[in-house]
Amino acid sequence: MEHENSRIDSVTGLLSYNVLMTKVNEHIQQTLEEHNQKTFTAFLLIDIYRFTYINNIYGFKTGDDLLKFVGKTIKSMLKPTDVIDRVNADTFGIILTNLYDKKDVIEFIDKLKTVFKQQFSINGNAIVISMQIGIALIPEHGIGAEEVYTNADIALSEAKKRSEWNYVFFSYELKAKTIKFLHYKSMLEKAFTEDEFLLYYQPYFYTNGLCIAGFEALTRWKSKEHGIIPPMHFIPILEETGLIMKLETWLINQICKDLKRINKTKFFIDKMMPASINISPISFKHEDIYEKITKIVSWHKKGSKSSECGLSKQINIEITESTFLLEDPNKIIASLEQLKTSGFKISIDDFGTGYSSFSYLKDLPIAYLKIDISFVRHILDDKKSRSITKTIIELAHNLEMKTIAEGVETKEQFELLKSFGCDIIQGFWLAKPMPIDELIVFIGKWEEEKVKYLQ
Ligand code: C2E
Ligand code: CA
Ligand code: CA
Repeated sequence: MEHENSRIDSVTGLLSYNVLMTKVNEHIQQTLEEHNQKTFTAFLLIDIYRFTYINNIYGFKTGDDLLKFVGKTIKSMLKPTDVIDRVNADTFGIILTNLYDKKDVIEFIDKLKTVFKQQFSINGNAIVISMQIGIALIPEHGIGAEEVYTNADIALSEAKKRSEWNYVFFSYELKAKTIKFLHYKSMLEKAFTEDEFLLYYQPYFYTNGLCIAGFEALTRWKSKEHGIIPPMHFIPILEETGLIMKLETWLINQICKDLKRINKTKFFIDKMMPASINISPISFKHEDIYEKITKIVSWHKKGSKSSECGLSKQINIEITESTFLLEDPNKIIASLEQLKTSGFKISIDDFGTGYSSFSYLKDLPIAYLKIDISFVRHILDDKKSRSITKTIIELAHNLEMKTIAEGVETKEQFELLKSFGCDIIQGFWLAKPMPIDELIVFIGKWEEEKVKYLQ
């Protein structure tokens, strides 16, 4: 629903947005006049959690009737001086007047929770709903209706990032964070159109003989303004905005092109080197990763020589344990099974730092466990890190998986890991992430170079 000019919302019979804004202004005026009396007003934006889902399951008629019911029920809970309207599809705006403490707002939200946690019937459908709420206080968070509304909306967006029945009070710190986030988001959107992403590759090596076992693709953002930006600064924003899926589409295409280049070099003749890619838990939640990867890879296989037809066998997919927290584990397992059947290998990244439920490990088609850098970093000086590392290696081998130790920076760390039976190492000791051209030179020289490290 757009903010139309009519005074009444046609679905709920409540006030329309414009009338509400006038009311907010009136209340601001009143609150400012009465401010010496220590009362204040709160403006709440209340969003029904997963309303689209309700609409899809029960149909629009029930959706509309639900909105009417919610509006009427909330209205019955308000004081005569309070106001409610519907500001858009499934969001209500509420003015709570004559408050003495922030706690009064929280008490009101608790009451909402008690009322709506109970099942109710709409057109014969048993429905339970939950809400997410953003709150701006008047006059603390604005002395104009638009400003109050925008600030409550900022708080609501923050509330929506978390769970059901979450509420967030606006703060100027949150506003600064939101502005920075939106700035980065628009810069990242531009980065796609200006082709500013790059892949760096970090080789990893068998502990036994130090031959190259493969290389991991790590994304970099080459910003015109700020130079090369490491992933920790932009991957979280890409994840939050959903742009990560766009990045991965680009990345899978890029890796196919780069693998074809590597496969044309002489090193490929007797050895096929896999490339690892990191796939975000967010993508597993929103996309069919199997379909996405296989489609892109098949497209790149078209018209290729036989030596390039093994692309799927050359791609190793790294996922983190949090993938299983965000999505139904059975769905993830099914998707990983399909990938494995098509020739892809799967690794669990940062193993031991997340939600390690050993029960799922036995059901997963996993080829590698990557031992997190935080254990490897202290392996020489901390007994506990040593014992966790040893246990992970033993566990992996018992489950017929291999281990890759991340962040190996010294020969001493390598030797200890090798003595524990670790299969593969990755780290600055042997190689840092590098652009594709450097990787090709690196691979070419490695057999000669490695002798230095074996002495
Ligand atoms: P990760 O997947 O655990 O990648 C390993 C990180 O450790 C890389 O950082 C690598 O440069 C760094 N590293 C490797 N060896 C050493 C070492 O010996 N010492 C130290 N101190 N660090 C080492 P990078 O490239 O900054 O990537 C950070 C994280 O960003 C990655 O951690 C991964 O979680 C994420 N990331 C990078 N590229 C992508 C991507 O394309 N997609 C997704 N979803 N995540 C990515
Ligand atoms: Ca990784
Ligand atoms: Ca890692």
